[in-house]
Amino acid sequence: MFKCSRFFVSVLLFVPRFDFFSIPFPPLLPSFPCLTCDRFTTTTDTMNNNDGFTSTILPKERAGASFDIAKLTYAINRNHSKIIEKFAPLFDEELFRSKEDDVNLSYEDGFRKSIERVTRAFEIVRSNPDFMVAHMRQKIQMQQFFDHNGVFVHFTMVMNYMFSHADKAQKRYWLTKAREGDFVAAYAQTELGHGSNVRGLETTATFDRSTQEWEIHSPTLTSLKWWPTGMYACTHALVYAQLVIGGETKGLNAFMVQLRKADGTLMPGVELGEIGPKMNTTSSNIGYCRFTRVRIPKDWLFSKYSKVSPEGQYVPVPKKLSKFKYISMMLSRVAIMTIAYDMCARAATIAIRYSAVRRQGFKPGQTTPGEGEHFIIDYKMQQYRIFRACAFSYCLLWNSRYISGYIKRVQTAINDGDMAAADDLPELHATLSGLKATATVQAHDCIEECRKCCGGQGFLMSSGIAKLSPDFSEWVTVEGEQVILSLQCARFLIKAVHTAKEGKAMTATIAYIGESDRPFDPSSPAGIIEALKLRARHLAKRLTEQFDSLRARGMNFDDALNRCAMLAIKAANAHVQKFMYENNEIAIEQFFKKQDTPAINTVMRRLLRLYGLQTITENAGDFIGLSMTVPLAAFMESVDRRITVLLDEIRPDAVPLVDSFGFLDSQLQSTLGRYDGNVYEAIYNDAAKKNPLNSLPNGKMIGWDTYKSILDLDFIQETEKKQRQRATGKL
Ligand SMILES: Cc1cc2nc3c(=O)[nH]c(=O)nc-3n(C[C@H](O)[C@H](O)[C@H](O)COP(=O)(O)OP(=O)(O)OC[C@H]3O[C@@H](n4cnc5c(N)ncnc54)[C@H](O)[C@@H]3O)c2cc1C
Repeated sequence: MFKCSRFFVSVLLFVPRFDFFSIPFPPLLPSFPCLTCDRFTTTTDTMNNNDGFTSTILPKERAGASFDIAKLTYAINRNHSKIIEKFAPLFDEELFRSKEDDVNLSYEDGFRKSIERVTRAFEIVRSNPDFMVAHMRQKIQMQQFFDHNGVFVHFTMVMNYMFSHADKAQKRYWLTKAREGDFVAAYAQTELGHGSNVRGLETTATFDRSTQEWEIHSPTLTSLKWWPTGMYACTHALVYAQLVIGGETKGLNAFMVQLRKADGTLMPGVELGEIGPKMNTTSSNIGYCRFTRVRIPKDWLFSKYSKVSPEGQYVPVPKKLSKFKYISMMLSRVAIMTIAYDMCARAATIAIRYSAVRRQGFKPGQTTPGEGEHFIIDYKMQQYRIFRACAFSYCLLWNSRYISGYIKRVQTAINDGDMAAADDLPELHATLSGLKATATVQAHDCIEECRKCCGGQGFLMSSGIAKLSPDFSEWVTVEGEQVILSLQCARFLIKAVHTAKEGKAMTATIAYIGESDRPFDPSSPAGIIEALKLRARHLAKRLTEQFDSLRARGMNFDDALNRCAMLAIKAANAHVQKFMYENNEIAIEQFFKKQDTPAINTVMRRLLRLYGLQTITENAGDFIGLSMTVPLAAFMESVDRRITVLLDEIRPDAVPLVDSFGFLDSQLQSTLGRYDGNVYEAIYNDAAKKNPLNSLPNGKMIGWDTYKSILDLDFIQETEKKQRQRATGKL
């Protein structure tokens, strides 16, 4: 019998008080007379009721582009799409093709499937050296071909660490095998009780001089390694631990530790598990691990820089190497920005293509469904939201390209012996910390907004957009949590304001803090950057004033910064947004000179202005009290008017702009964002019809034989007799 669970009761209690019987029946649908199409001219028989009538829309949108789509795609991807097309057939097997059915698998089956795919993918890759070379040269990423379920960490974070921190002998021993994937390691830093506070990690590595070994130990519950991606399916891990010699702690170092034996079971003293389902759909391989007096050889401490002699003498990392530390951290932040670009651009592509084919709301005087309705892309608020994601994607792309080019030039100069080339790296590093936070938080916001812009269909997993937001969310937290990184950036802003007050020279990224406010015309392009500078400068100054007054009252540095943390985050954000805007402007001039590619230059500038003006209007409160040539209300009104004009200007290029990102349908895996625009056919055929709940003959409901016990089957049979289907023929 039906059991009334507590959940069900609470649902009932919170349902608005509707009287179902008082809802009028919907009026009978008229047979619509249609002058422009034959969709509704007959009732059933001659109508093509499996056509969504959208196939001609996107080609028309593309034909209206003001610029050459292929040229912009090439500038973005070079021949990336061609490389993907070249290697894609390698993975054209049922195992990889059946990805859209993953959503129907249990957690355990999903993991099994992903391991099957990873195993098969490794076999394929090993027999295709071209693929390996392209991957090592970073021309392709694994996830473009198969779902690696966290194994990528071995090939990125772990191998990068080994490249820079293993000595020659260690590289010989570990690296070749690591490159081939002969063993797989996780990056085990975070612990159950310690994430952002890395110095607080508790795992210990104690040196035993008598055996020339390290003893790796988890002394408390909070010291269990927790969260390492890929760890459940690992054989080894790069483990961060407090190095202890003779009872003295020397600080954090990284060690190689074996977790699993060749038979798949655990090494003695190792307890390892998977932490359980997470909010994104693809992570079923994140681990936890406890070490109980696990012994490893002395030379499993990565020893290129920090060394320990056989007698137990510890030599820490030399100070001058900190510049290299900055560079590798900065490159990893830029890499995350590229991921943010990739995911945000996918969301923008799906939302803009779908908005271009989806119609809602009758045009004045029209009543014909479809033809008589507006495309939702023509609604201003829809444009504001989806073009915002498109503009921000381009901003992320050009910033990541411009900044990584800059860092690589500095890296080359340092390698050539010019250490002065790295003088402004600490400042750039601080800005990039803030940039990682702002870029990921804002990209996540844009992705989720694009999903909402797809209305109900955006809720379907087959939309491809529903999973982007949870899948991307981890990047806001990993590799530096948003608040922690923004606070790092804010510390540097406080220092910069002090430097400006002292009248000392300032580097390019921060010089605006020392400049005086200039009058500007808010509707001009130059006015946007002035407004962004004004906002960032005054927030940095207000932050420094608050911070200095707390310090003057005797508060220590950390407590004072914590006290004004809300303002600190705002100041960091404003600084980063100004920085991104300026970089984007330089990048456009570098990559699309007006005289060479005028049409692309124009459309890129429009997007940049949109990004700048949306930043201003969404942070209007930051301008209160600032002296400007026009009153704040008039200023904001002119900003909003300019945004509306920009939306009109961008509209004809919206589809071409997202096409230019160059995503293949096989990458987007989206019923809504298909290149051909046939969304309704896809939602019906590719998603609903393949749903396993719809698999029984004659549409029988799964679970019916249980469910029927609560129903009055006699009554259902009685009403069954009163309804019928008419035979074919015109009515
Ligand atoms: C999907 C995923 C994959 C991961 N993969 C790995 C991996 O491969 N290897 C690995 O080692 N780790 C990994 N991590 C862990 C990740 O690096 C940490 O989650 C991250 O560093 C944040 O630490 P935390 O979880 O302890 O958060 P906490 O530090 O506990 O943060 C919680 C809250 O406290 C606030 N807070 C903390 N400290 C401060 C402060 N000083 N001032 C102000 N506010 C503060 C934060 O802003 C946040 O809002 C992964 C995490 C996720 C979600």
